[in-house]
Amino acid sequence: MSTVSGIAVLGSANMDLVAHVAKAPQRGETVTGRELRTVPGGKGANQAVAAARAGASVTMIGAVGNDAFGLRLRSALEASGVVTDRLRTAEGPSGTAHVVVDDEGGNSIVVVPGANAGLTSLTPRDEEAIRGAGLLLLQLEIPVEAVVAGARVARAHGVRTVLTPAPVRPLPPELLELVDLLLPNEHEAAALAGVTDPREAALALLDLVPEVVVTLGGAGSLWAARGADPVPVPAPRVRAVDTTGAGDTFAGALAVALTEGRPMPDALRWAAAAASLSVQRPGASAAMPYRSEIEARYA
Ligand code: ATP
Repeated sequence: MSTVSGIAVLGSANMDLVAHVAKAPQRGETVTGRELRTVPGGKGANQAVAAARAGASVTMIGAVGNDAFGLRLRSALEASGVVTDRLRTAEGPSGTAHVVVDDEGGNSIVVVPGANAGLTSLTPRDEEAIRGAGLLLLQLEIPVEAVVAGARVARAHGVRTVLTPAPVRPLPPELLELVDLLLPNEHEAAALAGVTDPREAALALLDLVPEVVVTLGGAGSLWAARGADPVPVPAPRVRAVDTTGAGDTFAGALAVALTEGRPMPDALRWAAAAASLSVQRPGASAAMPYRSEIEARYA
């Protein structure tokens, strides 16, 4: 396998504040929770951790606040080997996700973007990090102007762009024309394409971008490229205990496999191996596997 080349991630970093309760409060109600966990998250940071643990050199472009959460978000990225010199510290609070999980496993979430909302443009050093990368990972938890700006730099320098369209929203045409690979889950694919069948949705999305991978939870993924029939790629059968972050693990590992030059079907099996390991452990970024574990599962 060729040398691992770098990945840039342009996206969010949030502190997830997860309260466990027997039953979620109704409007006007107060309930007593059992436990509060503060867990580093955000789709950008999670994808960066997944790719770094999978063996790539990863630079995170994003913003945290000048609060205690910001310090912890930065050090959590660094602990997994992510380069944080393009992670700016903004005046004000870090992004937070306020999660209430009930005993039936249902959850409700309020995201307060904090510092992520201020990331509306790129600095010359951000652009340099994108130019020097082999692939750029994008999501939609930061202002779309910055996502477009990042994709524009990538396209101008031949850097492959991979967009996870989450949280799902209509995608502006100026972004779509800069996306090389769209990576929705089946719900996002259905919302964007207006059809629920993943195969039909993938084919419809090919009118907008040249390549689509729809992730299908335990059923694996579906790869569609223009001019060929969609190819289903199964996931290893495992007992899942917590699927939070599975999509981000898949995205990060897929990026690594693609920058190493693996053909798409192999890269998708490698990403599925990584994601299957993450769902067998609790937590999002904490559950993300390291390269040696992925290799052992893939073999
Ligand atoms: P999440 O929002 O939970 O992070 P997602 O909805 O973005 O995930 P999914 O399609 O649920 O994405 O899962 C992404 C990938 O993770 C799948 O393509 C698959 O490879 C793997 N995966 C998810 N659930 C399971 C499972 N139960 N067993 C094995 N692999 C799984």
